[in-house]
Amino acid sequence: MASTDGVDLGDALQVLQRVFGYPEFRGDQADIVEHVIAGGDALVLMPTGGGKSLCYQVPALVRPGTGVVVSPLIALMQDQVDALRALGVRAGFLNSSLSWDERRMVEAEFVNGQLDLLYLAPERLTSEATLKLLDQGEIALFAIDEAHCVSQWGHDFRPDYLSLTQLHERWPKVPRIALTATATDATRKEILTRLDLSEGRQFVSSFDRPNIQYRIVPKKEPKKQLLDLLRGEHSGDAGIVYCLSRASVEKTAEFLVANGIPALPYHAGLDASVRQRNQARFLREDGLVMVATIAFGMGIDKPDVRFVAHLDLPKSVEGYYQETGRAGRDGLPSTAWLAYGLNDVVQQRKMIESSEGDLAFRRRSQMHLDAMLSLCETVSCRRTVLLDYFGQSGVPCGNCDTCLTPPESWDGTVAAQKLLSTVWRLRNERGQKFGAGQAIDILLGRKTAKVIQFDHDQLSTFGLGTDLNESEWRGVVRQLLAQGLLAVEGEYSTLVLTEASAEVLGRKREVRMRKDPAPTRSTTRTAAA
Ligand code: ADP
Ligand code: ZN
Repeated sequence: MASTDGVDLGDALQVLQRVFGYPEFRGDQADIVEHVIAGGDALVLMPTGGGKSLCYQVPALVRPGTGVVVSPLIALMQDQVDALRALGVRAGFLNSSLSWDERRMVEAEFVNGQLDLLYLAPERLTSEATLKLLDQGEIALFAIDEAHCVSQWGHDFRPDYLSLTQLHERWPKVPRIALTATATDATRKEILTRLDLSEGRQFVSSFDRPNIQYRIVPKKEPKKQLLDLLRGEHSGDAGIVYCLSRASVEKTAEFLVANGIPALPYHAGLDASVRQRNQARFLREDGLVMVATIAFGMGIDKPDVRFVAHLDLPKSVEGYYQETGRAGRDGLPSTAWLAYGLNDVVQQRKMIESSEGDLAFRRRSQMHLDAMLSLCETVSCRRTVLLDYFGQSGVPCGNCDTCLTPPESWDGTVAAQKLLSTVWRLRNERGQKFGAGQAIDILLGRKTAKVIQFDHDQLSTFGLGTDLNESEWRGVVRQLLAQGLLAVEGEYSTLVLTEASAEVLGRKREVRMRKDPAPTRSTTRTAAA
C-alpha cells in the first residue's frame, strides 16, 4: 500500500473505502484511527463485532512501515492473512505452524518493507531473534489484540503476554494500540500498567448489545428445553450451543440431529480436518447449529448467528459476555439463552477446589464464578448487571427475562435454616458424607433406603420441609451455594457449612431468594420427544 506523510483522516477514509470497501467509519473508529495515525498510544475497549480490526489495520496502511500485530489466536492467523491478501493488503504471519522456508520468506519481506501487516504469536516476542528481526525493518505500529490476556487477574491470562512490556522500552517511538472486548475496571487498569499505556488515550465503547435478549432459565431437562427454544423461536436459524464437555457436545449434537435440527459438533478432541470442515460449513451454509465447547468461536465472524445457548454455566461473566456476543453481530434481534441449575454450581465449585492452580488462582476463579452466579440469581435487569460488571451504567432494558417477567423474591431465611441445620446434623455422622439429595430427602420426610440405613428419619429436621417441593429445595441449595452460605467439598460433593452459615443459623442474617419462574410456554410446537 502506498503510504504518504500526511496524517489526516482523508488518507484513512480513502484506505477504508478503497481497500476495505466500507463507506464510513463506525462508532469510535474514526477517532481511534486518527489518534494512532498521529502516533498516539491507545487502549480500545469495544465489544465483539464492534470493528476492532480496522482500528489498527487502517493506521498500519496509512503509516509508513509494517503494522506488527500480536495475537494469541494462532489458529486464525492464516485465515486473517488470507482475507487481507484477498483485499490486496500485503500481510504475513509468523508462528509455529510455518516451515523454515516459509518463515525466512516472511522475515525477508518484512525487512525489505514489503509487508503492511505482520501477525505474530506473543511467544515470538520472548525470543531475542524476533526482536532483532523487528529492529531490521520499519514498524508502523504495534497492535496488541486480546489485550486482557496480559492481566493476571483477568479470566484468560497468558504468561507470554508479559513479555509485551518491553515493546515500549525497546521502541519508544512506535505507537501501540491495545484492544480487547472484555475488561473489567481492574483488568483495564492492569493492562494500562503492564503495557505502560497510562499516557495513552482510552477509547471505551458501550458494551451494551441492545439487540441481544438475555435469558437465564432454571435447568430441568436441558436438551428438551433447548429443543423447545429452537423449535419455538429459532426454527431454521443459525446458532451456537455451548456445552462444558466434549461428551455432552457430541450427545447434544446427535440429539438435535435426531430431532430434525441440522447440527454439527466442534471440540478440541475432534480431528483437525473435521473441525475445519464443520467450522467452514457453519460459516458458509444457512441455518446450521454448531454445538461446541468454548474452543469454538474466537475470531469467528458470522453476522447472522441468531442465538447462543449455554447448556452449562460459563466460568466467568467475561466468558459469558464474549460467547453470547457472537450472537447478532448484524444488529438484528438475537437470543442469549442459558440453562443453569444446582449441579452447575456444585460442579464448578468442585472444579475450582480440585484445580492444580495455586491459592491465588483458586481465589480468582472463585471470584469470577461468584460474579457469574450473581448474574444468574439476580432479580434485576440482566443487562444492567452485565454492564455494571464492566463498569458501565444502564437502565433496565425491557428486553431481558427479568425485565419481561420480573422474578419474585421471597424470604428464604427459615428454609435456609432448615437446610443448613440438616447439613450440620449430617456432618456429625462420622466418616459418612452426604450431598444435596440426602438433605432434601430428609427435609421432605422421605423414607428412602439410604435414609433408613442411617437412621435419618430420627433427625429433628426429618419431614420439616414439606412446605416446599423437591425442585424448590434444589433452588434453595443452589442459591445458598451461590451466596456462599453453603459449600461443597470432596469428590462426593458433600455439603458443608461456611462461616457465613452460622449467621443464618444464629438468626443474625436474613436470606432473600429468587423464586424460580414456573416452566413457561415452550412445549407448544414440540413433537413428542
Ligand atoms: P471485532 O474484532 O471487534 O469483533 P471485527 O473487526 O471482526 O470486530 O469487525 C466485525 C465486523 O464488522 C466485520 O465483518 C467487519 O468487516 C465489520 N466492520 C468493521 N468496521 C466496519 C465499518 N466501518 N463499516 C462496515 N463494516 C465494518
Ligand atoms: Zn433487562
